Amino acid sequence: MTVVGLTGGIGSGKSTALRVFKKLGAFTIDADQLARDAVNPGREAWLDIKECFGKKFFFKNHKLNRKKLAAHVFKNKKTLKKLVDIIHPRVFEEEKRLISFYSKKKKRALIVVDAPMMIESNSHKWKDILVVMNCSRENQIKRILKSGKLEKTEIEKRIKAQMPLSKKLKYADYVIDNNGTALECRQNSKKVYQEIIAKQS
Ligand code: ATP
Repeated sequence: MTVVGLTGGIGSGKSTALRVFKKLGAFTIDADQLARDAVNPGREAWLDIKECFGKKFFFKNHKLNRKKLAAHVFKNKKTLKKLVDIIHPRVFEEEKRLISFYSKKKKRALIVVDAPMMIESNSHKWKDILVVMNCSRENQIKRILKSGKLEKTEIEKRIKAQMPLSKKLKYADYVIDNNGTALECRQNSKKVYQEIIAKQS
C-alpha cells in the first residue's frame, strides 16, 4: 500500500484533485468529512465540545452549529487549538482505521487522504508521499467567494490560521498547480497520479 497525503490551503482545489484520484482508482479519504462525522450528536467529540464551549453552539435538535463555532474559534489561536485538540485525535483514529481497511481491499492499494491542516497537525508523518496544491491567495479567495461558502473576512481568518503555502511547498514530494482552469487542475492531478503509480511499480 501507498498512503498519499493531499494538502494545501482552503479552496486550493484539494477536493477537485481528490475526485480525479478516485476516478483513476485510488481509495480516498476526506478528513473534513471525518471531522464533520466526528461531531455528530452523541459522539465523543460532540460531548467534549459541549463541555468545553457550552450549549450556545448547539441547535435545538442537538446538532452542532458548526458555522457559529467556527466564527468563534477562528477569532483567536487559543480557542482554535482547544477545538482542534478535541477533533483531531478522533479524525486520526478514523483515518487510520480506514487506511487499514482499504489496504486489505487491494494489493498495493493507493490511498489518498485529503486534509487541509495535515502538516500543521503533523499527520503528514504517516504518509508515504505528500502532494501539495499550489494555488495563489487571490485564486483561493476568488473561488471560495464564488462558491458562496464563506465571506471574505472569514476566508482571510482561515487562511491566516493555516501554514503559509511557501512553507507547505517545502514538504511536498509532488505539487499540483491550480492557478489555471479547472480542466488544467484535473490534468495536472492526473499527471501526478500517473507519476505516483509509475513509481509504485
Ligand atoms: P476546501 O478547503 O473548501 O475544502 P478545496 O481545497 O477542497 O476547498 P475545491 O473544493 O476543489 O478546493 O475548490 C474550491 C472551489 O473552487 C470549488 O468551488 C471548485 O469548483 C472551484 N475550483 C477549483 N479549481 C478551480 C479552477 N482551476 N478554476 C476555477 N474554479 C476552481
